[in-house]
Amino acid sequence: MIDLTGKTALVTGGTRGIGKAIVEALVQAGAKVVFTGSSAESAEKAMVAFAESGIHTFGLGGDVSDPEQAQKVVDLSLEYLEKIDILVNNAGITKDQLFMKMKREDWDQVMDTNLGGVFNVTKAVIKPMLKARYGRIINLGSVVGSTGNPGQVNYSASKAGLIGLSKSLAKELGGRNITCNVIAPGFIATDMTEQLPEAQKDTLISQIALGRLGEGKDIAGAVLYLASPLADYVTGTVLHVNGGMY
Ligand code: NAP
Repeated sequence: MIDLTGKTALVTGGTRGIGKAIVEALVQAGAKVVFTGSSAESAEKAMVAFAESGIHTFGLGGDVSDPEQAQKVVDLSLEYLEKIDILVNNAGITKDQLFMKMKREDWDQVMDTNLGGVFNVTKAVIKPMLKARYGRIINLGSVVGSTGNPGQVNYSASKAGLIGLSKSLAKELGGRNITCNVIAPGFIATDMTEQLPEAQKDTLISQIALGRLGEGKDIAGAVLYLASPLADYVTGTVLHVNGGMY
């Protein structure tokens, strides 16, 4: 049992899917958690749903792709938490299309959210983390950042970019006891994968050694590990959690 009592965490994109499971797991492990959604409405709605299931956490709206909104979310989180020990950069989107048909705006939106968002939020968090000489930064990548995937030139590039960002940050920040790692999920049952046609889902499942899509809690377990003292000597790594598909 991992105990994070006394630790604080900010989780972006915690309203649903993988982020929601991460928020639940961190709170259940004893951490004090702030989560974000893309809007105040979605954060508020999720906060009520969390409270109804006994998960006490605080939700904030803010678009991570906008540096000013990211800064505001971090400032408000610091007011509530007083410090941020654990940052989980989870917010992400897809805008899938074959490269030949992909619009420049689909490329920009995915890069600005999945990669730019991590830059913006981490930039806002890093000063207090450096001052505290402690931090656990956990970035949500994807298996397709390593394998590529047709229809996901933008998404795969954003997730591959996240690996370079995280490995470099790990080297810059290690001396201050701040670790930075990537968790690369395979295919996890959330709204994001719900969009896939059934036939494509069946093909995907046939390529997964464990024979099923993952669940949010499968990824939340990896977050708990990287946030805990068990992983104090782990940094600059990519932890693949994909049921054996890669
Ligand atoms: P999801 O169910 O679509 O949820 C996305 C979350 O991100 C929501 O909380 C959403 O908030 C938030 N979000 C989206 N755009 C945002 C923005 N611009 N600013 C702030 N928040 C934003 O996604 P998921 O499947 O849980 O995926 C979570 C992470 O895991 C993503 O980084 C994704 O790339 C990665 N991942 C997922 C899978 C998978 O199979 N599902 C596989 C590999 C990697 P709202 O509710 O307000 O929209």
